[in-house]
Amino acid sequence: MHNPRVAILGLHLEANAFSPPTTEQDFKRLCWAEGLAISDMARSASSLPSEVPGFYARMDAVGSWTPVPIIVVAAPPGGPIEQLVFEKFLDVAAAGLRAALPVDAVYIPSHGASSATGDPDSDGTVATLTRQIVGPNVPIVVTHDLHCNVSERMVGAIDALVTYRTNPHVDMRARAAEAADLLREMLAGTRMTSAFIHLPLVAPSVTLLTAAGPYADLIHCAETLIQAPSQGPVAAVSVAGGFAHSDLPKCGMTVTVTTRHDAPLARRVALDLARRAWADRNRYVSHLLSVDDAVRMAGSAAAPMILADVADNPGGGGRGNTTDILAAAYQARLSGAVFGIFIEPGAAAEAHRLGEGKSFRAVFNPLRESGSEDFAVGVKVLKLTDGRGVGRRGILAGRAFNLGPSALLELDDSGVRVVVGSLRNQLSEPRMLEMHGIDVSEVRCLVVKSRGHFRAGFDEWFAPEAIHEVDASGLASPNFARVSFQHLARPVAPMDADAVWNGN
Ligand SMILES: [Zn+2]
Repeated sequence: MHNPRVAILGLHLEANAFSPPTTEQDFKRLCWAEGLAISDMARSASSLPSEVPGFYARMDAVGSWTPVPIIVVAAPPGGPIEQLVFEKFLDVAAAGLRAALPVDAVYIPSHGASSATGDPDSDGTVATLTRQIVGPNVPIVVTHDLHCNVSERMVGAIDALVTYRTNPHVDMRARAAEAADLLREMLAGTRMTSAFIHLPLVAPSVTLLTAAGPYADLIHCAETLIQAPSQGPVAAVSVAGGFAHSDLPKCGMTVTVTTRHDAPLARRVALDLARRAWADRNRYVSHLLSVDDAVRMAGSAAAPMILADVADNPGGGGRGNTTDILAAAYQARLSGAVFGIFIEPGAAAEAHRLGEGKSFRAVFNPLRESGSEDFAVGVKVLKLTDGRGVGRRGILAGRAFNLGPSALLELDDSGVRVVVGSLRNQLSEPRMLEMHGIDVSEVRCLVVKSRGHFRAGFDEWFAPEAIHEVDASGLASPNFARVSFQHLARPVAPMDADAVWNGN
């Protein structure tokens, strides 16, 4: 098709049911873009999710097209979207799409684990609304994070789904290019059909890495099944690990296989992958160190190490302010330890008011949030920054980040240093430390509030063997014994021994 008109609309939010609701301000602060401005943003450095520029780049490279951007919004991981904000998004999307008709195709770059306070399947709602507006014959291709909770309703409304295959996520642009290629194929006349399987397998986040482990094995298997048009009919294979903390019946691992109109084959391939996943279900178990053991180990370690405060990961909806490890490290006088990013706007503001070199009494987590205690301690201000930077490695490479007013503080004369920020961010990027004067190569024990994305940012100093995940309090704990799930479709493996899968 010459110069196809491709509509673009997407909603990025990983919704943690245990976090405060996500507001319009949360989106506006990160990304709320409408209309043609999206095309300009996609072709320069911007706060758009990386798959949008990735999609534009591929579409631009392989032929003519007319982008018809409608709306793309993104918020940091947090609670479900306030319903009125979600409806505002839907109104803009629907009105924009209707006004843009006729379109030849639609691309939906969404995270896939959103929910709204009044709609547990917001991604399904976006897909079905889009289908209603464009009709049955316009191709719709979706990209999702692998931490997505896919519903059968969503898959039923679209033509193809492509999910990330790397965790830490470094393949957003590649997956968007894959989506663009599928879209071009469909515009040239190929029909697609998908099979979908939802497994009663709810994996803790720390078991979904793709370098090694059960999920890595599964993803690598899936990858070998995908065929170019000249090779065979399997067009896309998406094995999504899911995001348990959304706490919804649709949570769990899903397999979506899209073929070039071969429904029995799509079904066979999906079943084969689902059986592999199910056979491995008891490998999806987290192995976390207690806080005491972690601090003791750090105190006697011969080599530099990372302690990952995985439960308080802002990238999974955590607040970034639990004090369990910080207090224990201070009491142990764990000299040489560096903590980041501790989200404590009050302490950051006080540091900025007083200035570098000054001391004050800081209170960490004063409201005792996330099941964690408050922790008061004398601190000295070593360095102040505005918290703004551009990432250089891993998931933030080339992307702007903003920690808000930030400071490097030392706790008394303990040798324990902590970077405090004002806006929720996970420590995934070395520049977040370097901008505060920290030489990462000299850090003996780095304590990161991040679940896994730090691995791609700090791998030049810390091999996987030097990384230890800690069982502390927080809203995104992978220790499910700490989580009060309400809406998962129990029983689910591996936490419920009586979980069964009926093979469908
Ligand atoms: Zn993710």
